[in-house]
Parts: sequence; C-alpha cells; structure tokens
Amino acid sequence: MIAQPVLTNAASALVGRPVQVVCSVEAQPEDYGYADIAGSIIHVRPWVCGNLELLAAGYIPLSGGATRATAEAALVLAHEAGHLRLGLDERKAECFGLGSIHRLVRLLGAGLRQTTSLVRYARQADQASADPCLKPS
Ligand SMILES: [Zn+2]
Repeated sequence: MIAQPVLTNAASALVGRPVQVVCSVEAQPEDYGYADIAGSIIHVRPWVCGNLELLAAGYIPLSGGATRATAEAALVLAHEAGHLRLGLDERKAECFGLGSIHRLVRLLGAGLRQTTSLVRYARQADQASADPCLKPS
C-alpha cells in the first residue's frame, strides 16, 4: 500500500477535506477501487495510479486508447472521491465523478485541450450514467 501524494492532494480538493489515496492491490479483482469512508482513504488499482501519475507528470497520450485509459482512471478516482463526499449511493458517486473529471484532470496538470478530450472519453466510457447525470433534475 503506497500513498500517492499527487493523487491525494487532488482527491482532497474534490472531497473538500483531507483524504488519502493509496495505490492498492487489496481491492477486489472486479473493482477498480473502493472508498474506505470511515478512514477517508481511497484505494485504487495500480493501473489507475499509473495512468494518473503519467498525466500528472505531463505525459500526453498519443493514441485514443491511452487517452481512454487515462479518462477511465480519472473517472475511477473521481467516483471514489464522490463516495467520500456523498456516501454509499452509487448513482450520486458516479454523477459526482462525471461532474468532477474536468476539475480533477486540471488539478493533475492537464492542459485545456487534453482536459476536453479526457472529459469526452470519460462521458463515453459511462454513457449510461452521463446522460441522466448531466441533465438537470
Ligand atoms: Zn461506487
């Protein structure tokens, strides 16, 4: 379990209080991550950490596939941040995640153009949630 300072800072900003992000192989294999609400800790899989650390290091993916993987990683972290902010409700966490992608990737250092494409890929990755979440209710 390795704490990730860059991701921890970004997630804390989204949640609105200090939280910790750890790169963890302890998550169940079918999960991309999980939120320990009582401990204010977000556990994400190594591929999530890896993609987001590359983003934070200024790496700009050249392929659509790599951009999609980065967008999906950002969505995982933003979704788990949603759980720490809003509780266990999956729909609320996913809507929070989709609505926070833009802020998250900007916090991680993405430029405007890269941000636009990451947000687009994230919404495509979860079209089923994106449409109802983005509509005002
Ligand atoms: Zn969830």
